[in-house]
Amino acid sequence: MSDNCLFCSIAAGDVAADVVHETDNVVAFRDISPQAPVHVLVIPRKHLENVTEAAREMPEVLAEMADVAQQIADAESGGQFRWIFNTGAQAGQSVFHVHGHVIGGQELGWNPA
Ligand code: 5GP
Ligand code: ZN
Repeated sequence: MSDNCLFCSIAAGDVAADVVHETDNVVAFRDISPQAPVHVLVIPRKHLENVTEAAREMPEVLAEMADVAQQIADAESGGQFRWIFNTGAQAGQSVFHVHGHVIGGQELGWNPA
């Protein structure tokens, strides 16, 4: 656990969140400011800053995060979703504990890729 990290506090249960799925390694909870009908954040319990660190240091947990994202989409979004990892402030990252945004539940219009 990293001091002063909001998502570490959510993973520990010290800050309330609308948790939709949890395992020994992963927690998923609804974004406080949803941008689509389905907007869930999937995080590892372990504090790492971004998706690259996660891939390098715990690829098996990153794979589990993908599986959790798919389970959420299966339950809430017809199995379809966009999975976003903002990486760095310029890219829009505001919380520096790796999190994948699971976005879905509607036709997604903006496709920068
Ligand atoms: P980022 O901008 O780092 O990619 O995403 C951070 C996300 O965390 C934002 O979408 C923001 O709405 C969400 N968020 C910020 N504070 C809280 C909070 O206290 N609870 C929850 N559930 N989501 C939060
Ligand atoms: Zn953290």
